[in-house]
Amino acid sequence: MAQLQVRDLHVTFGGLRAVDGMDFDVEQGEILCLLGPNGAGKSTTLDLICGKTQPTGGSIRFQDTEISQMLEFRRARLGIGRKFQVPSVYKELSVAENLSVAQSMKPGIWHALTTPAVRRSKKMREILDLVGLADKMSEPAGYLSHGETQWLEIAMLIAQNSRLILMDEPTAGMTIQETDRTAKIFRSLSANHTLIVVEHDMSFVRTVADRIIVMDQGAKLAEGSIEEIEANEAVKTAYLGH
Ligand code: ADP
Ligand code: MG
Repeated sequence: MAQLQVRDLHVTFGGLRAVDGMDFDVEQGEILCLLGPNGAGKSTTLDLICGKTQPTGGSIRFQDTEISQMLEFRRARLGIGRKFQVPSVYKELSVAENLSVAQSMKPGIWHALTTPAVRRSKKMREILDLVGLADKMSEPAGYLSHGETQWLEIAMLIAQNSRLILMDEPTAGMTIQETDRTAKIFRSLSANHTLIVVEHDMSFVRTVADRIIVMDQGAKLAEGSIEEIEANEAVKTAYLGH
């Protein structure tokens, strides 16, 4: 069974149907990219999955639990992590201290109290290696570059035990080198994590996506591989028409 199952998901803001009957599954370990013109409902779809916004209808099942009415912090405890565009790292704390804070926010305070420090620091090292920040662990987060700050935030989501990570335009503002490295980090992340990524950079999408869903006017317009999406006439029309 798919890790995430979204069925007939709806939300209206005033009279506007921002998400209007979305249906899709995401498999464990998959990287799903969400594309679509501005205002298509991509960010709102992420908001509905993480619980920042409550749906007006439909269902969301995560690891076989219905979560669509669950509060945001409870979904986070279940393993849904959302990375926002404005990073929320503690600038005056070091990279390692930021990760410690995130680790201590894992489900249940008992985790922090009962997991031996040595095991926590081994885990921290693994996470820092994964995002390529091991040599920056003592640096204040405020000194990191834009790209490094984004990677630290991803590391913090992993430290919190997120299994499904939602990201909105993660490469925005990155240099080409940072974008390339982010693609590598995503590929390694997908060994143990599922990613849903809203992204405009098509060469990045081409590198990372296992599957693509194109949204338009709150609904799914197309779904498939990059080749299928690029050959899709409805997709071309949606982009040209806006
Ligand atoms: P995308 O991320 O695909 O650009 P969004 O999901 O941000 O699109 O927005 C979808 C539509 O919903 C847009 O028309 C947007 O203006 C509207 N919208 C998003 N959030 C809200 C909100 N909190 N209140 C009212 N309208 C909203
Ligand atoms: Mg958006």
